[in-house]
Amino acid sequence: MKIAIIYPPLTFHNDYPLLTQNRQFKYTNSLEVRIYPVVMAYLATMLKKTGHRVLYLDGINLRMDKAIFNRQLVEFSPDFIVMETKAPILKSHAQYIKLIKKNMSRTKVILVGDHVTFFPEESLKISQADMAIQGGDYDFIINELINVRGEKKWPGGIYYTKSGRIKNTGPSRFYDLNQLPLIDRELTMWKIYGEAYLYHPCAYIMSGRGCGGSNSYKNFKSNKKLKGQYDTKMPGLCTFCIWQHSFWRCSARLQSPEKVADEIENLYRNYHVKEIFDDNESGAIWNEKWLNDFHREMKKRNLTGKVSLSSNARADSLTDPVCRLLKASGFRLLKIGIESGNDKTLNMLKKDETTSETMNGVKKAKEYGLIAMLTTMVGYPWETENDALQTYNFTKEIMLYKTHFGDSLQSSIVVPYPGTPLYRQALKNKWFIVDPEKYENFDMAHQILKTSINTVKWCKKMWRIHLHPLFIIKSIFTLRKWKDIKLAFRGFISLLGHLRDYSA
Ligand code: SF4
Repeated sequence: MKIAIIYPPLTFHNDYPLLTQNRQFKYTNSLEVRIYPVVMAYLATMLKKTGHRVLYLDGINLRMDKAIFNRQLVEFSPDFIVMETKAPILKSHAQYIKLIKKNMSRTKVILVGDHVTFFPEESLKISQADMAIQGGDYDFIINELINVRGEKKWPGGIYYTKSGRIKNTGPSRFYDLNQLPLIDRELTMWKIYGEAYLYHPCAYIMSGRGCGGSNSYKNFKSNKKLKGQYDTKMPGLCTFCIWQHSFWRCSARLQSPEKVADEIENLYRNYHVKEIFDDNESGAIWNEKWLNDFHREMKKRNLTGKVSLSSNARADSLTDPVCRLLKASGFRLLKIGIESGNDKTLNMLKKDETTSETMNGVKKAKEYGLIAMLTTMVGYPWETENDALQTYNFTKEIMLYKTHFGDSLQSSIVVPYPGTPLYRQALKNKWFIVDPEKYENFDMAHQILKTSINTVKWCKKMWRIHLHPLFIIKSIFTLRKWKDIKLAFRGFISLLGHLRDYSA
């Protein structure tokens, strides 16, 4: 079989869609954000390993010319095309699929993604796709689908059209992540990806799938019978968190520490990467036992300190023992969701964390010399100007605390993606100021919920904390390495791009 895994090069007013591996979609002016689609990369690897011919073509991050992209696709003449989509871009993808069907009528198109997972039937109806995959383990599902003969053997999680009717193969299951192969980095063009805040060359991994370690996990952990397990029944439940609710159905799984170390070792020894980002929802940082085993594994392989590691993290996981383990294992940077500086908002979002836990966790990480990248949101319908100011002051306080070169933040406007609890809440409370079924409006740069604050002003204000004189001075005085100067330059260019995103 010939399978093409594609991201068509779509743009909007010359801005690029942040689609690959992005939970929160937006079009951006910044050229510095090109995130590696880890699950798609696993799929490409699996298919190639089972003997199929694979064309991996990320037209967005290659910034490809549309005509050249289309020519390459037609020349490859695939049996199957796999495309990842999201709510705001689904209609544009439907147009593109129309074009595929016109020029390659025998090719079957498979859609994957968080929106498709929530609304597989609707996705098939809007587009002319042949199949829609439900679930985040679409790498396993598609690999199985292509390698078995006959509809009866298809795995769960497949929606498809037959004789004008939509059928399905039942619910998808979760697969064993330790069965994943080592990612084929060449096939999946690892070199084109990266973000401004990472040392280059950089690469991405996912230590697991799903967010573990919400506060309730602490109660779970104290249950002696369950102690020592890597998985948790108490995962993150934040109401806006699209992948956690759609792909992972509010669960968390981790690969074994040895398996993650295999991937790191391959990247370090064969690709000489300088930094590796773990883009699992909250990394593996919520699991102290896992971190202990991982640290031992890294030491055994003589990898500690050889390559910088960075990861997503929940602030309330950042205790003394965890920070110590992170430092000892080679972690450099943590991307931590702050969301808001108000307890009421954190409560409404079911973050299962208080502002003082956030503050203490991030401060603790900084005390251990870990770099903090904070993510915040504005525009919650229940928040006032005062609440936004409180978030601003809260974020500024953390940013100015023991500032180290590389500390940074991201700010965006809250978007309740269809299917999430926040979307349902917004419908119930009539918070939408746009048609909630016009998904193309669900772009993080635009306000779609009622709010009494000026979201663009507050977003910009948050981003501008980077320009606070104290922040700049402290950052400069902690600049130690030559490679940090390159990082600073890329970061500054990226900041300008992000500020332009909110220039309305
Ligand atoms: S803590 Fe982060 S990753 Fe976990 S559910 Fe909340 S937003 Fe999602």
